[in-house]
Amino acid sequence: MSRPEIRMVDLQTQYARIQHEVDDAIASVLNSTAFIQGPPVQKFAQELAAYTGAKHVVPCANGTDALQIAMMALGLEPGDEVILPVHTYVATAEVIALLRLKPVFVDVDMDSFTVAVDQVRSKITPRTKAMVPVHLYGQCAHMEPLLALAQEFGLHVIEDAAQSLGAMYSFSSGQRQSSGTMGVIGCTSFFPSKNLGCFGDGGAVFVNDSALADTIQMIASHGQRVKYQHDIIGVNSRLDTLQAAILSVKLKYLPEYERNRQAAAAHYDRALKDISWLTLPARMPYSTHVFHQYTVRVGAGQRDNLKKYLEQQGVPTMIYYPIPLHWQKAYRQPGVAEGAFPITEQLSKEVLSLPIHTEMTEAQLSYICECIIRFGIHG
Ligand SMILES: *Cc1c(COP(=O)(O)O)cnc(C)c1O
Repeated sequence: MSRPEIRMVDLQTQYARIQHEVDDAIASVLNSTAFIQGPPVQKFAQELAAYTGAKHVVPCANGTDALQIAMMALGLEPGDEVILPVHTYVATAEVIALLRLKPVFVDVDMDSFTVAVDQVRSKITPRTKAMVPVHLYGQCAHMEPLLALAQEFGLHVIEDAAQSLGAMYSFSSGQRQSSGTMGVIGCTSFFPSKNLGCFGDGGAVFVNDSALADTIQMIASHGQRVKYQHDIIGVNSRLDTLQAAILSVKLKYLPEYERNRQAAAAHYDRALKDISWLTLPARMPYSTHVFHQYTVRVGAGQRDNLKKYLEQQGVPTMIYYPIPLHWQKAYRQPGVAEGAFPITEQLSKEVLSLPIHTEMTEAQLSYICECIIRFGIHG
């Protein structure tokens, strides 16, 4: 079997395909020297609003900042509790803790990898003020029951859509909505490897309420609406003009990028479906999947062995996430012991994300699948 070169994410090939357009966009910003808040920033914000159906898009410096700005804008007080899935990237919990709010973890669902909806209610206390569903790996959390619960208890819903830009959620009414636009605030990231990635750090906040959008815009800009007039405490969090110009080019290709990811996922599905010790990613009936990650579960205690074997064969893989948040030194909580979140703990031992990106070839996919099948025979 010939060995194609395989990367977890192939940004080189992706750039090569759109190099002229991107280079032109960059050159135009360089010539303008409007590096901070140049016209491309608002242009991109409007394009992304149109793409997602969000009323307002406020660009910022990264996805973590987007989450922090969202929490700040809602006026949460120290000690207020915020519910979030324990199987997520650290940033989700980090901003909560940073603002002296209390992260309240909930386990996830084994099939969807997103928050276990039926466990949320029991976590709600009089101090609960918000919940942060995370649309992990590119598929929406089950928003309809979460929104109903939030309504019942008067909670803010802040969506972490860093991995799910473009994923569509279907309500039982038949209405479909873009991830990040269903809660009171949605947050996303343009980290290079995300589904819409820039050439550095970037992020954005989605919001439908105009007054809240104004507050969010102010917070991202040192709490000012008018220069040197600081009405509230803010932060310095801007999307560079260069990044915005690049993102405008790449946003045009996002539907194609999404199809390419879905085609790669379909290839994996077909080739790996009969392997008894692998559980392939489920497609939940309420969401499309934009495959930020193609994450399988490896049974029989073989995950780490399979990872090592694939590495030897030139196939990179990743584990998202190897250590559950409630076991992390910075996020341990009294009374939350080992075994508190059995699904997340099991996932940390079983999940493996296979290479998936916008440029995968049939040859690469076939090679990866043959390696996995071969591991099954000899492993
Ligand atoms: C990437 C990511 C973030 C943070 O985004 P940055 O731009 O890296 O700050 C937050 N949450 C999730 C789930 C992510 O995957």
